[in-house]
Amino acid sequence: MALPEVPLPTATVAGVPVDTRHWIGGTRLASADPDATAAPYFTTHSPIDGAPLAGIARGGAAEARAAVAAARDAFPGWAATPPAERARLLHAVADGVEARAEDLARVETADNGALLRSHRRGVMPRVAHNFRYFADRLLALGHPDLTTRGHTHHVTWEPAGPAALITPWNAPLMLASWKAAPALAAGSTVVLKPAEWTPLTASLLADITHEAGLPPGVFNLVQGYGAEAGAPLVADPGVRRISFTGSVPTARRIARAAAEHLTPCSFELGGKSPLLVLADADPGLAADLAVEQYDNAGQVCLAATRVLVEESARDAFLGHFLDRVTKLTQGDPRDEATGVGPCIHPRHVERVDGFVRRALAAGATPVIGGGPHPGLGGTYYLPTLLTGVAQDSEIVQEEVFGPVLTLQTFPDGDDDTAVRLANGTRFGLAATLATGDRERAERIAARLVAGTVWINCFFVRDLSAPFGGSRQSGVGREGGDWSFDFYCDIKNTVTAPGAGEVARHG
Ligand code: NAD
Repeated sequence: MALPEVPLPTATVAGVPVDTRHWIGGTRLASADPDATAAPYFTTHSPIDGAPLAGIARGGAAEARAAVAAARDAFPGWAATPPAERARLLHAVADGVEARAEDLARVETADNGALLRSHRRGVMPRVAHNFRYFADRLLALGHPDLTTRGHTHHVTWEPAGPAALITPWNAPLMLASWKAAPALAAGSTVVLKPAEWTPLTASLLADITHEAGLPPGVFNLVQGYGAEAGAPLVADPGVRRISFTGSVPTARRIARAAAEHLTPCSFELGGKSPLLVLADADPGLAADLAVEQYDNAGQVCLAATRVLVEESARDAFLGHFLDRVTKLTQGDPRDEATGVGPCIHPRHVERVDGFVRRALAAGATPVIGGGPHPGLGGTYYLPTLLTGVAQDSEIVQEEVFGPVLTLQTFPDGDDDTAVRLANGTRFGLAATLATGDRERAERIAARLVAGTVWINCFFVRDLSAPFGGSRQSGVGREGGDWSFDFYCDIKNTVTAPGAGEVARHG
């Protein structure tokens, strides 16, 4: 489906004015030097109804280069800013996020289609918390000195240099702040390149950092397509860290570009996580956990999209699941009653539907759903559960990134099969278990390949805890001190005994 183009330099979205230009070195810049084939703006559309929202400056190599240069110029001053002052400024950013939370929530929902009530109650408070947490954590950062034969080892975290932050469309401001907050706290300057389908709240964040008093060049924003703006950014030798959240194929491209300058990368990638329902699980809780996977229309990296049920629990689980899922209201994400909103883009819906069509052709059966919403059309896809799927089939192995779950069973008491199915993809982001048997759950959890395992819960996060994926779900961990480790060069200074006396008397 072709969407209308609207080349506009600025826009009002959901009643909120948004400057849609880049933010480089403390200045708003349009794409001044588009090449002959590219327009200086591209259009972002709302997944809610396909309406064009704004013309966004379409960055390329020139803007990426300028932003990295600004970040490099600002780096020595920001790195030398005392931690207490950096922390104060990051709290001021959090204040700005809180003051504009309603604007941010409305613009984010218009741009990416996730539920307005989630943005208001969950996401925007978390964005502010990201800045507050890393500001406070910075002041607590430290390692006890070590002593070897009287020599003292003193460990310090030295800001590494400008960081390129590349984010996807499914949780735009949440992920931008999850990267920017620790990078800035660590003393790195940043260049953020948000996803081209959801560029708007990043621009509001640039305003907020400015109003909070961040010096020019500390926070920079380049808008544009991945191949045009993202690729030159990650290839720039001035970039000293790359933090990327997105798909596996893009991570491979970035890793190749980063190899040239040996730029360290943090990758948070896709998933195909299991939800294991053991026979003694509370079937209501298990069904709640399964239905939760339709949040954000299933466009959540952590989503447990493969339901693996112990055979004797299947019927009770399905009964409770159907009872809940048939009560879900699908529609406009701005309505308080809506449980499932749209997918991000008509092209993405085609991709999601392609997976489902091929699964059905290969013999899968829909328990519910199985296609676009018949009444809403466009970007709205029915919450879907497919049975009759083989472990090695595409629908079980590949990330669909839509409201599509599969159901498989394993024999009663057969933990080996449960673990083999759960671990049987190339991903390893998360796993969820529903069970009444804590010890069995812990035995199984210990055998799962996953960055996070949840037992009888889902999506419970703590910013001090490590977050990341195993196998092709990611490289490295972020969160807590792991984030500081990534954005810093860690230095060990070893002092001989009596060195102070030598200096004083020498
Ligand atoms: P994507 O890889 O297509 O794009 C992500 C970002 O990379 C965008 O900003 C894009 O413009 C940019 N990009 C594309 N090509 C580039 C290049 N050559 N160089 C530099 N940047 C480039 O991913 P997407 O479709 O936006 O997001 C969906 C994916 O993100 C899913 O696989 C999902 O699982 C994953 N994701 C992972 C996590 C996590 O924490 N593990 C969180 C959210 C989303």
